Amino acid sequence: MPGLAATMAPVLFKAGCPDCRARFELSASALRLAIGASRRTTFYSFTCPECGSSVRKPAGERIVELLTGGGVRTLRLHTTV
Ligand SMILES: [Zn+2]
Repeated sequence: MPGLAATMAPVLFKAGCPDCRARFELSASALRLAIGASRRTTFYSFTCPECGSSVRKPAGERIVELLTGGGVRTLRLHTTV
């Protein structure tokens, strides 16, 4: 069962843009996580603040944990009970 921290510091995630190669830090609200039925359909996405390009990257288990733990909005593409 996930615990709720009494004090939550704002979390920043380091990310890079494959288009313009900019590196930046994004807050949880700038990221989206989509969890699909398989690893290939599990990814996170964000919009590059430098060039405005939509970036989508595969998310492994550790990244999913990191992002969900950091409060990133998560979209579940498959339904589980
Ligand atoms: Zn960019």
